[in-house]
Amino acid sequence: MNILISDAFDPSLPNRLKKFGQVTDDASKLPEADVVLIRSKTKCTKEYIDNAPNLKLIIRGGVGLDNVDAEYAKKKGIAVYNTPDASSVAVAELTFAMMLAVPNWLIEAHNTMMAGKWAKKELKRTELMGKTLGLIGTGRIGSEVAKRALAFGMTVIGYDKYVTKSDTIKLKSLNEVLAESDYISLHVPLTDETKGMINKQTIGKMKDGVVLINTGRGKCIVEEDIAEALKSGKIKTYATDVWCSDPPADTCPILKAPNVLLAPHIGASTNENLLRIGDTIVNILENFQQS
Ligand code: NAD
Repeated sequence: MNILISDAFDPSLPNRLKKFGQVTDDASKLPEADVVLIRSKTKCTKEYIDNAPNLKLIIRGGVGLDNVDAEYAKKKGIAVYNTPDASSVAVAELTFAMMLAVPNWLIEAHNTMMAGKWAKKELKRTELMGKTLGLIGTGRIGSEVAKRALAFGMTVIGYDKYVTKSDTIKLKSLNEVLAESDYISLHVPLTDETKGMINKQTIGKMKDGVVLINTGRGKCIVEEDIAEALKSGKIKTYATDVWCSDPPADTCPILKAPNVLLAPHIGASTNENLLRIGDTIVNILENFQQS
């Protein structure tokens, strides 16, 4: 079979896939591809799929399928897989790195030192212990974040429309989570229901000075409303790994807002996770060959 690797994976992957057939990363070979491997960058739209008449299998290395027209692929008899279990620890660790960086002023401490300033008096830190973390979405990644927060002595509450039980997270209504949390972390997929769910109205229900962390999806928040809330101080800091587009447009209001901590969609990009994604892809291809 012809395998097209369309996005960035672990460098060992092409060699590991040679046992299944021809492997290329040349996008012009799409018309000959039987299998396409993508992460976030490639958008498997109707047009993309129509340009690949031999396509039998799409594998998205990562969680979610929001960059694949899975319904259209299935209509054309193309199997679609992702690797949902691989990335949870990688994304949870980035979320927690952001949660630690904000109250410890790590970015400001580094920048002021580099600028030759001794900001010892200005940089008064706060602790995570005793604070309340509110998770929106308590699935795989939300649960991994919860474990880490509990180890730091935080109270962990969460809202999930489709989960009714959790051993570690006190499940509450969305309004309760918004009102009670010092830190809010988003871990829902992008769907019609979650698109824009953090907006002027929901921000209004949050505590003054809340820290909002988004390693879920950029379109789950309304960027203009977050920027306004940052300017007024309603939101103390917005830490985000995810954007309305990758990379964000120059006009993205978050780029010009105060008190932000920004990352270029690197939640899943640990060496370990890319190896785990590779393992899952090999398993999917083995099963696919046997079926
Ligand atoms: P998951 O499916 O295990 O958990 C998502 C949870 O959201 C589920 O429990 C689900 O019930 C809940 N949910 C769905 N719709 C909801 C709604 N309307 N209101 C409240 N809760 C709702 O997925 P996961 O592995 O935890 O990943 C979560 C998201 O993280 C992914 O969908 C993806 O968007 C994002 N992600 C980001 C990166 C990154 O690089 N930053 C990497 C991987 C995943």
